[in-house]
Amino acid sequence: MATLLWYRKDLRLTDHPALHAAIDRGEPVIPVFLWTPDDEGEWAPGEAHQWYLHHSLDALGEQLDAVGSKLIIRQGSSALSVLRDLVEETGATAVYWSRHYTPPLSERDATLSDALIEDGIEVQAHKGQLLFEPGDILTGNGDIYKVYTPFWKKLKSRQDEIADPLPSPTSIPAPGTWPESAGLAGLDLLPTKDWAAQFTDYWIAGESDAQDRLDAFIRNGIEAYETDRDKPAIDGTSRLSPRFHLGELSPRYVWDQVRTYSGPGQRSKGVETFLKEIVWREFSYHLLYAHPETPLKPLKEKYEAFPWAEEYDAPLERWQRGETGYPIVDAGMRQLWAVGWMHNRVRMIVASFLIKDLLIPWQEGALWFWDCLVDADLASNTQGWQWTAGSGADASPFFRVFNPVSQGERYDPNGDYVREWVPELADLPKKLIHKPWEATDRQLADAGITLGDTYPEPMVNHAKARERALEALKQI
Ligand code: FAD
Repeated sequence: MATLLWYRKDLRLTDHPALHAAIDRGEPVIPVFLWTPDDEGEWAPGEAHQWYLHHSLDALGEQLDAVGSKLIIRQGSSALSVLRDLVEETGATAVYWSRHYTPPLSERDATLSDALIEDGIEVQAHKGQLLFEPGDILTGNGDIYKVYTPFWKKLKSRQDEIADPLPSPTSIPAPGTWPESAGLAGLDLLPTKDWAAQFTDYWIAGESDAQDRLDAFIRNGIEAYETDRDKPAIDGTSRLSPRFHLGELSPRYVWDQVRTYSGPGQRSKGVETFLKEIVWREFSYHLLYAHPETPLKPLKEKYEAFPWAEEYDAPLERWQRGETGYPIVDAGMRQLWAVGWMHNRVRMIVASFLIKDLLIPWQEGALWFWDCLVDADLASNTQGWQWTAGSGADASPFFRVFNPVSQGERYDPNGDYVREWVPELADLPKKLIHKPWEATDRQLADAGITLGDTYPEPMVNHAKARERALEALKQI
């Protein structure tokens, strides 16, 4: 007799209701992680995310060792077949996990759960990834919210329902004999090429570092968050997104830490804005759960007829490589490639550029982000792309076309972000750094730049591209 605790996107010990329930069941607990990417279809983890996952699993294994347990790793073509093998080998009579809300895993779980129950296995799915279950925050008419602000207000009015997080267990009952583990290295999650070399300067995966990062952000960053969050050159955001995505932190734990810090009175603007971002994540999950078709299909149907460019392989590649000739766009795309993450303001700028300046379908951008982001998250990525494309819930209207020069000048006024990620422009004076094509020959020579050679000419004229996008919009 044993309980399998199936780790998925909840790679932590603190505030883990499924783990607590498994321990409370009173049988030995066998923590397992299954690598079955076929179950995830086209949304199998991308390469950057796999890198992060590898390190996060490594850290989880160490944490489990420290409480007398182990992480058993297995792989296979489907989670159901791997679980059945494990049940047979260990004599387990129950499988517990934290619920998934995104397709295709939510559907997979429903079928898998029925099959296990038919096998006579007890199954429990717990809430662990969200503050409120999808379907729990509804309008007065019982519909899901499609506008963020009323969603936020409703959730805030119910914040007292957010329970205190559960503590991390100090020991986990172990079985007499452990089943064999395939081992982390056997999963081949790390890239064979060394493009991820810089990731290690940016990320230390695992719950312990995630908690430290949250703690440091609350102490040093949260008060200035409202103003600093839009400045990509500084470390003004929490960088917790991969930790949320893989569940190294539960949103309830984060909420509680922030609540403890800010006390019972009126919250500061920084604290309130940060909590609102956490709730954007929540909003994205509730939306995707209600509209599982939206990772590749516009939520607003009329956008299905949008007249995208027909041939776009070459411009797409320039965008992916950060060679558009617009410094803020190129800086963002190169940051993404180098460290698997991009600042939120710049995500919006590069997305707008792809969709509106290049008329490339937003789905191409979403797929590229999927492969390159350590925080690639189907709910937040879908919502971010559909928001920019104007086709999502509470989206930015399509006619709001970001100007990459004025966005750069406004949010990176000294050009430090561009200097960091596009070093060939580093010696340009700040008034030219977002528009090198306006520099004189002399200024370019002084900065060591030959346009079209050391740095590209702009691949489109933004003003004309904007007109073209607005014309295209008229067609739908
Ligand atoms: P902070 O500013 O510190 O915010 C704290 C947390 O709130 C984040 O970690 C995240 O969990 C949540 N959050 C913040 N902004 C948003 C938002 N706009 N939507 C949903 N949740 C939010 N976020 C992802 O986690 N994964 C993605 O795949 C993803 N793709 C995106 C694609 C596009 C085109 C856009 C415009 C945004 C995308 N985002 C995505 C949202 C956002 O850019 C990131 O969550 C944020 O930049 C992560 O950095 P941070 O942890 O420092 O955020």
